[in-house]
Amino acid sequence: MSAPKKILIVGGGLTGLTAALRLSADKNFSVTLVEKSDQLGGLAGGFPLLGTSLEKTYHHLFLTDTAILDLVQELGLADKLMWCDSSVGIFRDGKIHAFKTPLDLLRFAPCSFLGRLRTGFAALYLKHQKNWRGFTRQTAHAWMTRACGRSAMASIWTPLLKGKFERHFDQVSMAWFWARIHIRANSRAGGGGEKLGYFRGGFNVITVALENELRRRGVTIQTGAAVEKLADGERAAFINGEKVPFDFCLFTGPSPALARILPANAALDDYAARLRRIEYLGAACLIFTSDQSLGDFYWVNVNEPDAPFLVFIQHTNLVDKKSYGGKNVYYIGAYLPPDGKTFALPDQELTERWFNYLPKMFPRFDPAQVGETHVFRFAAAQHIVDTAYEAKIPEYQTPLPGVFLANFSQIFPEDRGTNFAVREGEKIAALIRQAAK
Ligand SMILES: Cc1cc2nc3c(=O)[nH]c(=O)nc-3n(C[C@H](O)[C@H](O)[C@H](O)COP(=O)(O)OP(=O)(O)OC[C@H]3O[C@@H](n4cnc5c(N)ncnc54)[C@H](O)[C@@H]3O)c2cc1C
Repeated sequence: MSAPKKILIVGGGLTGLTAALRLSADKNFSVTLVEKSDQLGGLAGGFPLLGTSLEKTYHHLFLTDTAILDLVQELGLADKLMWCDSSVGIFRDGKIHAFKTPLDLLRFAPCSFLGRLRTGFAALYLKHQKNWRGFTRQTAHAWMTRACGRSAMASIWTPLLKGKFERHFDQVSMAWFWARIHIRANSRAGGGGEKLGYFRGGFNVITVALENELRRRGVTIQTGAAVEKLADGERAAFINGEKVPFDFCLFTGPSPALARILPANAALDDYAARLRRIEYLGAACLIFTSDQSLGDFYWVNVNEPDAPFLVFIQHTNLVDKKSYGGKNVYYIGAYLPPDGKTFALPDQELTERWFNYLPKMFPRFDPAQVGETHVFRFAAAQHIVDTAYEAKIPEYQTPLPGVFLANFSQIFPEDRGTNFAVREGEKIAALIRQAAK
């Protein structure tokens, strides 16, 4: 019997962990997974808070997230999954307006009445429209302006697009926007309110279950291990200065990060340039705990033009605060250019700046009741899905022999998410198995 083929998986997020799970089921493979940070989980990673684990960036699941829900079953975690009632608001014109049901939309005073009706019809149309192909080359901004009118754009959609895509807000493909509305509208439970999935113990329970299963199967897992370079002319990677041979390598980090580790070889220049053309925004999240409950909504989109952040989340309006020792847990989040000044602000300054805005939303906000604060930043959190995006999507197979790429920049038109990370991890594992035959 021949020696098992060496598989090197770069990245311990859900794509890498899922691919490792599928590949390690094959006795013909010996799998090593390396993660440059000191913990597994990637963008869905957690940190210890009040005796449990909380995501560094807000996370929940939709009922339509079938790939990850299947994995949750398989890992024996179904009893940890809770389906919780969601509540959504929009902060605009100095007030938080409920924004969950058709009736909420009809009552949404910051938008003209005609704008509300047009928005309702547009949402209904997008919910039932299954064919997104025709939307790819149109911008969401232009399509939605035509469908809903200026008042709805000013009060609802433009602030959301700006919050998510910053200066790229008017370049984003309508196909991406269609997927957001279509999936979300269809994830509502049988005409009732929206249910969102969350785990007792946080999303960390998936990471831990995957890690345990991988270790049980003999997968080598190394954290604090960055792939610095791929070797030229041979199947090997440099990890913390050491040359590690492989038969197949799967890279799951951001696309421009693959460009940075490609060997200096003119034949790869065009490919590297293509990877670099995929632009990313960073994300900054402030998490704080407080004795004070600030409102009734889980999720509040902050649509005021002067707001310094996109979203305010009272996590303990989704998940019972009993899980956090009776404290309220909050997120404040923004997508920011990773090379910009705000992204680089010291934690304390960012916290002060964002806290200073909170009295506008919650006049009762009392900083004296704040307990812990934590700031987390991710430099590559959201890629820019413009109207030319489909042609930019990198292939799974790279020009380097034996090297594959799977990351969320290949997911289109859906928004990136843990569900798609699992789906892509499974898909790429099948491709690698095929290539190894
Ligand atoms: C603000 C925010 C909110 C979100 N909310 C949700 C949500 O509510 N629901 C949901 O399902 N999803 C959500 N997501 C998306 C979800 O977190 C991601 O889609 C998913 O976790 C991506 O997994 P991944 O493995 O593809 O990538 P990542 O999690 O980015 O993992 C890639 C890993 O590769 C490592 N790496 C990169 N380069 C190297 C190298 N050279 N050597 C070694 N390691 C390397 C990185 O450190 C990283 O850990 C959210 C994301 C953000 C940013």
